[in-house]
Amino acid sequence: MKQIAVIGGGPAGALCGEKLASAGFRVTLFDEHLAWEKPCGGGLTHKAIEKYPFLLSGPQTKKEIFTAELISSQGHRTRFEMSRPLVIYSRAVLNGLLLDRAAAAGCETIHARVTALDTNGTGVTLTAAGREHAADFAVLATGARNQLLPGTTPLRAEDLEVTLGYFVPAEEQVVKIKFLDRMNGYIWSFPRADHLSVGICAKMAQYATQTLRKLLDDFAREEKIATAGARFYSHVLPSPRLATLRHRKITGRNWALAGDAAACVDPITGEGLFYALRSGDLLAESLIQDRPESYPARLRAEFVADLEIATSLVRRVFRGSFLGGAVTTRMVQFAQRSATFRDLLRDLFSGAQDYRSLRKRLWTQFGATITEVARDILRVPHSGEASEKVTS
Ligand SMILES: Cc1cc2nc3c(=O)[nH]c(=O)nc-3n(C[C@H](O)[C@H](O)[C@H](O)COP(=O)(O)OP(=O)(O)OC[C@H]3O[C@@H](n4cnc5c(N)ncnc54)[C@H](O)[C@@H]3O)c2cc1C
Repeated sequence: MKQIAVIGGGPAGALCGEKLASAGFRVTLFDEHLAWEKPCGGGLTHKAIEKYPFLLSGPQTKKEIFTAELISSQGHRTRFEMSRPLVIYSRAVLNGLLLDRAAAAGCETIHARVTALDTNGTGVTLTAAGREHAADFAVLATGARNQLLPGTTPLRAEDLEVTLGYFVPAEEQVVKIKFLDRMNGYIWSFPRADHLSVGICAKMAQYATQTLRKLLDDFAREEKIATAGARFYSHVLPSPRLATLRHRKITGRNWALAGDAAACVDPITGEGLFYALRSGDLLAESLIQDRPESYPARLRAEFVADLEIATSLVRRVFRGSFLGGAVTTRMVQFAQRSATFRDLLRDLFSGAQDYRSLRKRLWTQFGATITEVARDILRVPHSGEASEKVTS
């Protein structure tokens, strides 16, 4: 196998193309937009930076954010310093960086939409800009709205979140996350180099877009974020269910899905960039070793098994109750009052804490967390926390 067609030049397709071209494959990458401002927060966790250090060390414009603020649906707030920064890119810059690396590795890039794909022959044929192209294998990294589905099912409304947002020209130094009242989703404000990406995500099947837009506009008003004249965006984001992660076919004889198209997204946080990069990388590895059939097992071993655990926690996190209040409200309150709980959140934000061991850690630390919360409520002073609190 020598000739690979990569369809989609986002993080999944661009990194896959780069790795394959570096290994000597002839790679042609097709994207209808190339380096574009795809609707996104653009936030990369530390686990992505650790795996791909060029994302931090390169000269491209990005913002490192060290402070996070959590806001409950009832307005409780807490602000804390993260142990590792969140690195936030404009997507036009991030995609440009990844596509440049792919081109430098020898990947041919074609600026065109792929309108048809035939995988029934020994190889594949595809149509782009009215021309037919042949390849031995097709990498489908066409994102959450993927329409090219040889031998597999589309993502359904239950597997998707709707997102709405604004790119607001403003300077900020703090990442803000606001939880919603018993809703599967949240509002975010991610500061980039010269603007904010402010948005809301929630399960597609459950909430009307007008409701979400109103919640987002209320948040912007509360936080004094001027959205008048700001560019509005809307997109979909995979939020896979357990059955989808476990059973949906993501590879065939001469094709495979990567990134959002394969639903490689954390169903709790919506983090997709790391998983897009990893899935593109793991798919390239499988093809380089001439074992494309090993790709799903590689994904499972590296992160899909953990994301499956996350699917069982989504409802609990966003709609559950704990000690008589919403879980998300308790999270904000605990973070405000307990250093132990803040450490846990820091690890969740950086990606150092996986879902597999989360439950055990929560229970192991429960005594310390509750003691710290109680001491704080009773105003017994203890070291090192006062500076991190904002409001009660
Ligand atoms: C509003 C929003 C906020 C988000 N915030 C974050 C965040 O802060 N951090 C994070 O980690 N994740 C975030 N995500 C998720 C993240 O954006 C995605 O997981 C990530 O972009 C997936 O990368 P990908 O390469 O799989 O797909 P994409 O980035 O969607 O790239 C797909 C590419 O395929 C191209 N394409 C599609 N169809 C065709 C076709 N037929 N022919 C040619 N080209 C085609 C498109 O032009 C596009 O460039 C967010 C998502 C949304 C919607």
